[in-house]
Amino acid sequence: MPGDKRTGVPASPGRAAGPVVHMPPRVPEPATNRIAPEAVADAVQAVKDAASRVEQDLAERAGRATGTSADILSVTAAMAADPTLAADAARRVSADHLTPERAVWDAAGAVATQLEALGNPMAERARDVRDVRDRIVAALTGATPPGVPDPGHPFVLVAADLAPADTATLDPATVLAVVTTQGGPTSHMAIIARALGIPAVVALGGAAGLSAGETVLVDGTDGEVIVAPEAADLIAAGLGTEEDAGQGQGAPGAVVRRRPPSRGVFDGTASTRDGYDVDLVANVADPAEADVAANKGARGVGLFRTEFCFLGRGTEPTVDEQVDAYRAVLARFAGRRVVVRTLDAGADKPLRFLTPGHEENPALGVRGIRTAVDHPDVLDRQLEAISRAARSASAEVWVMAPMIATADETREFVAACAAHGLDTAGVMIETPAAALQSRWLLADAAFASLGTNDLTQYTMAADRDLAGVAALSTPWQPAVLDLVRVACAGAAVHGRPVGVCGEAAADPLLAPVLVGLGVTSLSMTPRALAAVAESLARVTLEGCRELAALALDSPTARAARDAVRDAVRRQGEHP
Ligand code: PEP
Ligand code: MG
Repeated sequence: MPGDKRTGVPASPGRAAGPVVHMPPRVPEPATNRIAPEAVADAVQAVKDAASRVEQDLAERAGRATGTSADILSVTAAMAADPTLAADAARRVSADHLTPERAVWDAAGAVATQLEALGNPMAERARDVRDVRDRIVAALTGATPPGVPDPGHPFVLVAADLAPADTATLDPATVLAVVTTQGGPTSHMAIIARALGIPAVVALGGAAGLSAGETVLVDGTDGEVIVAPEAADLIAAGLGTEEDAGQGQGAPGAVVRRRPPSRGVFDGTASTRDGYDVDLVANVADPAEADVAANKGARGVGLFRTEFCFLGRGTEPTVDEQVDAYRAVLARFAGRRVVVRTLDAGADKPLRFLTPGHEENPALGVRGIRTAVDHPDVLDRQLEAISRAARSASAEVWVMAPMIATADETREFVAACAAHGLDTAGVMIETPAAALQSRWLLADAAFASLGTNDLTQYTMAADRDLAGVAALSTPWQPAVLDLVRVACAGAAVHGRPVGVCGEAAADPLLAPVLVGLGVTSLSMTPRALAAVAESLARVTLEGCRELAALALDSPTARAARDAVRDAVRRQGEHP
């Protein structure tokens, strides 16, 4: 209904309005039907035409796309251009009189099976072959091709959820905003949307019922979606002008605009109003993100998620490959600190060479540092690669392990790092156990970094990827903040620094609270740096401590946020 306002969970800040385009359903497997002998010649031609249309379409899209999205589309276009698949399908049409779509399905199945039998790295191509298969079958049957759609104009993408491969092809130039029915605010889709500056709302009940082509206003900051917004809604969201009053709202493409959450510029430094310095650094996953971070003024990296360089690989990258990937990131931060996290595989980021195939509760299973129990050699080779990269770069390299829960794990990790000459070894505090035990962990570890995404998940016993518990998944939960306080107090016993590298660090209202709790550095998506720096500059250190006390003394997450927001307003009024 026009003007209908629906509330989900904010996942990536900013506002955008545009026409809805739904993620298409999977291309169905065609039935094994046969054609008349006289139709064979046309059917063979149809296969060739469909393959070449798919190749052209992908190549054109790659030409229009940017960044990773362009790379992925080019690779898929090259696969569609490979004549082997079309030739085998044509042979099946001629010999077995299969329909063109069934022939393509079977031919691709045979290629994929052969690739899988060769083992890795060839086996990894099987998924790409199936993707090309689905596109050619869609071209033959008129079904919607798989993947992020390309309607030819900017749009708001609506989906049940987005697989990592689809998330990688999100192009900020055309995808104005993302709305999903599933997922949580710290899912990796949400993290990538934030890195790309695409507003997102997750866990929006009834999103599937939004009509295709209808204009929606997506508020990724407050987690709201307005259907067929009025001009007044657009103006209030900073997206509309008086001219919109005359436009037919709700018509496809009637309004296509996006407003980033902050236009400020970050100059690399941040401090409270009374001059207390807070280190603001960036979260990166690969060299391209390191470039963005450096361009946005980040003076260092507080979390380098190394597993993202290797997601989707079936085999362990060689030490040389790892050295190249790490060196490329370190090169962007000459003379600056880069905190490299060892592989955080498992749960929602499985790596086939490292994590168990099936676990009932993978978030509680063998992930992060726990993979080193069965695969100490993989950790050892990664540390060797980090050490070699560090020796050949001028960045100051710190190393930390994810999912630490005990002092024993800490001691062993620190010793493993020392064996490779990596002397600044720290721990991520992502489990309540680690937060409560931080005075023991930090006796060995040189620093700690609070992974508030997982810390929230484990404190609230709420799966970070599950829409049904998304309302619980906020670091504003006083229980989570209390664990931050305890973790900082334990580290202070040894005079060790504690940072935050979870999404909490990017929340401008929460940042002063974290500083008030004892956190000394905040690492975030580079786009958030300016807004967080602005927010810190408005309060004194004592003000941060008062805000922290208010939040801790609140019964609920909402009460904590409201109390802090009101107090910040009051402090702003009386500088
Ligand atoms: C976290 O858990 O807060 C964190 C930074 O790690 P990740 O999001 O990669 O699990
Ligand atoms: Mg984590």
